[in-house]
Order: sequence, then C-alpha cells, then structure tokens
Amino acid sequence: MKKDEFQKSTANLKKAVPLMMKNRVSTTPANYALWYTYVDNAIPQLNEEMDGILEHYSICPPAVSEQLYNDYVASKAETNINDLRANLELLVSEVSNSMNDTLMDTSAFSDMIDKSFEGLAGVDHDSFSIDEVMSLVRQLVSESHHIRHSTKFLNSQLNAAALEITKLKAQLVEVQRDALFDNTTGLYNRRSFERDLETLCEAKQSFCLILLDIDHFKDFNDTYGHLFGDMVLKGIARKLKLSCRDGICAYRFGGEEFALIVPNKSLRMTRQLADTNRRSLEKLSIKDRRSGKQVGNITASFGVAELEPGEAAQSLIERTDKLLYEAKSLGRNRVMPL
Ligand code: GH3
Ligand code: MG
Ligand code: MG
Repeated sequence: MKKDEFQKSTANLKKAVPLMMKNRVSTTPANYALWYTYVDNAIPQLNEEMDGILEHYSICPPAVSEQLYNDYVASKAETNINDLRANLELLVSEVSNSMNDTLMDTSAFSDMIDKSFEGLAGVDHDSFSIDEVMSLVRQLVSESHHIRHSTKFLNSQLNAAALEITKLKAQLVEVQRDALFDNTTGLYNRRSFERDLETLCEAKQSFCLILLDIDHFKDFNDTYGHLFGDMVLKGIARKLKLSCRDGICAYRFGGEEFALIVPNKSLRMTRQLADTNRRSLEKLSIKDRRSGKQVGNITASFGVAELEPGEAAQSLIERTDKLLYEAKSLGRNRVMPL
C-alpha cells in the first residue's frame, strides 16, 4: 500500500469506529467494511441511504446494516468470487478434456488429485484466497502434462467437483438471502424482526410497532387452497412494502401475521398509517384463477403500540398482540386502540 493510501485508510478508520460506537453497530468485519465505505464517501448512493436511516433512527438497525452491506459493499467481492467460480468450472472442464486421451499412472496422481479437491472444497470458506485456488488448479493442469493415465476415475472426480462447485454457488446465494428475508413474501423475516426490535429497544429509540393478522385466513385456505393463500400473502406483502419509507420497515412476523416498525411517528400517526394499510388490504383485488371470479375480500386486524421508556421487546410485542386480539374480538377488520 502506498503511504498516502495508508494514511487515508487510517484516517477513515478513525472516523468510522466512533460512528459505529455511536450508532451501536456491532464490530463485525462486514460492518467495518460498511462504515469504512460510508466515511470514505466512495458510494454517494450508500451515503444517501445511510443518512436517510440515521435521520429516522438514532442507531442503525442490524438488518438494515446487513442489507446496505450486501447492496453496496459486498457486491464487488461477490462478483470476484463468482468470477472465480466460473473460471474454476472452466478450468476443471478443460483439464477433464485434456485428459481424455492420456494413459495412466495411478497412485501418485490420484493422491495429488485428492489433495487438490480437498483444496477446492475450501473455496466456500472466506479465508481461501483466489490466488491459492488458482495455484491449485494450475498445479493440477501442469501435473496432467507429465502423467499418462486412465481417465475414467479422473473424469468422474472432475465432474463431481464441477457439480459440487455449482451447488455451493447456489447454496451461498440462498444462505445469504435466507438469513434476512422471508422466502414467500420477500419481506424481512422473523429473525430480522427480533434482532431489529431488540436493538432498537436496547438503544432506547422511540418508535411504534404495528402487528397485523389476516382475518379468517384459515377459511380462505380451506376454500381456495394453500397455494392460492400464498399468492394472497405475496399481494399483502406488496401492499405493506408501499409503507416502507421514512425508515419504516415491514416484516413477516409469522404465518399470516406481519409487523411494521415505525420510527419517529406518534401513536396517533402510526394508528392512521395502520388504518391506511387496513383500507388498502380491503381493496386488494383477488381473482380465483380457475373461475376468473373475484374472490371475497381479504381483511386484517391491527394492534398498534408505542415503546414505553425502559420497556423490553417482548413486552412491547405482547402489548401490541393483546390489542390485535381485541380488534379480533370486536369484529375484526379494525385497528386498536381506537
Ligand atoms: P383469525 O381471524 O382469528 O385470525 O382467523 P384465522 O383463520 O386467520 O386464524 P388461525 O390462526 O386459525 O389460522 C391461521 C391460518 O393461516 C392457518 C394457516 O393455514 C394459515 N397460514 C399460515 N401460514 C401460511 C402460509 O404460509 N401460507 C398459507 N397459504 N396459509 C398460511
Ligand atoms: Mg394468526
Ligand atoms: Mg388470522
């Protein structure tokens, strides 16, 4: 690293670390990278989004941090890793082809192959550098020129390795998504909800919570089928996402239950927001694909509560849930408190 680059990095770190402390960001490598990039001002769009978040929260919620990291910081490194894997697959298939017409020696070569594949398995670990993987593959290629051998065994190993690499690649993408989001609706998942809520409570951030539960959804499933029910959940999620601005985040709390975390709004304003959502769900147009007919309306019941000073996340959830069930027992399709 050049001297001025080094100085810049140190200066950035000196700025990033206190900011992370202030915003209660846990000191993981990903977060260092995120906040380093933020103070470096290298990606204006990241700064704009982060400033938007910090304007509404006095801290940065963990799920949001992770999403910003994935969107702006990790994407470059990921591209490299994906490139690397594409190259590997290509190389593996080249080696495989070049060996098709060679003849055999066995043990020394197969030992070497085994070692190389043990190495390839390590691609999935972050600690394995691109150079190390490439040198393994190069070694494999160069050895192949010296040795004549039968190809059946080798081919099967190489094919298995190529398949394995493809599988790992797909798994990696899936794991990254599953950690934050719900598969069916694309909203943040329960895990993200609990983590964000706890972090906000511990930070004594003021905010409101909206919980909503679809009315008579079991009947709906029984009448139209579970798959159709899933489509409705997706439609509802799309409506809720429309509220996701000014720091508002939407989560799938459970089966047919959803949550919105609403910073910087009074209880009264949050109730209004809940009621707007209630009315927009009522208008959700749902058609039965088989008959093409309009299906009876979907409605939902809502509970809204504001975090009290010193209150724990669990207690806030319980209070909100209680209001939600009052809304149910009063006849559903309403927001509580009135
Ligand atoms: P209430 O108005 O009292 O909330 O009645 P309800 O029928 O909505 O409540 P209940 O808790 O009895 O049933 C919830 C239903 O939600 C049962 C279950 O079949 C459905 N459900 C939960 N998760 C999913 C899902 O992922 N997909 C679909 N299609 N249905 C789901
Ligand atoms: Mg329910
Ligand atoms: Mg329900």
